[in-house]
Amino acid sequence: MKSLAGRPVADAIYAELRREAAALSSPPSLVVLLIGEDPASQTYVASKEKRCAELGFRGKVERLPATVEADTVFRRISALNADRNVHGILVQLPLPPQLPREAILESIDPEKDVDGLHPVNAGRLVQGRPTLEPCTPAGVMEILKFYEIPVSGRRAVVVGRSDIVGKPMALLLLRADATVTVAHSKTPDLALVCREADILVAAAGRPKLIGSSYVKPGATVIDVGIHRTPDGLVGDVDAAAIASLAGALTPVPGGVGVMTIAMLMRNVFRAAKDVGH
Ligand code: NAD
Repeated sequence: MKSLAGRPVADAIYAELRREAAALSSPPSLVVLLIGEDPASQTYVASKEKRCAELGFRGKVERLPATVEADTVFRRISALNADRNVHGILVQLPLPPQLPREAILESIDPEKDVDGLHPVNAGRLVQGRPTLEPCTPAGVMEILKFYEIPVSGRRAVVVGRSDIVGKPMALLLLRADATVTVAHSKTPDLALVCREADILVAAAGRPKLIGSSYVKPGATVIDVGIHRTPDGLVGDVDAAAIASLAGALTPVPGGVGVMTIAMLMRNVFRAAKDVGH
């Protein structure tokens, strides 16, 4: 079984971004709004800031307290929308429970929505138009491209239908001419459905859900899941159980996760380029 490491894919994208960004009249810039003290979020935003610096982008984290009122958040986003020097705006999720997630994400200018979660960008994706794509599924497509895994005409099964991963993943595979099935928590006989897949994407958020009965021999398996367990990080795929079956598998860690920030940086670059910088 081939291991589809994310690092070489991400490094190739960073090299290209560095080259392309140097040709812009001013560096791409990202503002991350971090609301509250979620420890995992603190780590994620720090790595986004660090990656911006490495690429010569301007990256800034703005912190707001967990108790902040929605109006304050809307005002801040509105100011960032109007700021010509800010190309990308990202509101780090999850949000504190009192804040209206959908309304906040919708208040971001779609052209600055580098997470690709605004309904306008989701709609463009549905219609197969150019858009800022959600980062994790976009990263999966880059892995498939880098390792020259054919997608057109293949059967793809996506397990999970979230707005962040499952649905956009299915749309990107469809755009690449796969025949796509979306499975979810109400899908009967999930293993049978998954065994039809040439490309199986596991994004269910269930540790080691995908075992040997779910995988067709030779299939490419993409593990989007990340779970902290006493034994370390594990994915949605039971890697040991499918090792002798699958043709290829993304490792956890070091697979899809590595790609998410790379795709965010690409979106920041694209947002900057699109406004003519
Ligand atoms: P989510 O909880 O929003 O969605 C999970 C989806 O899986 C739901 O649509 C649900 O119907 C489906 N599902 C749940 N249990 C199932 C089951 N037993 N059988 C079939 N389907 C089932 O999660 P999400 O935000 O889409 O994330 C999914 C996983 O990917 C999580 O483990 C998350 O940590 C991980 N993730 C990783 C990255 C990354 O950068 N690698 C980014 C985002 C999410």
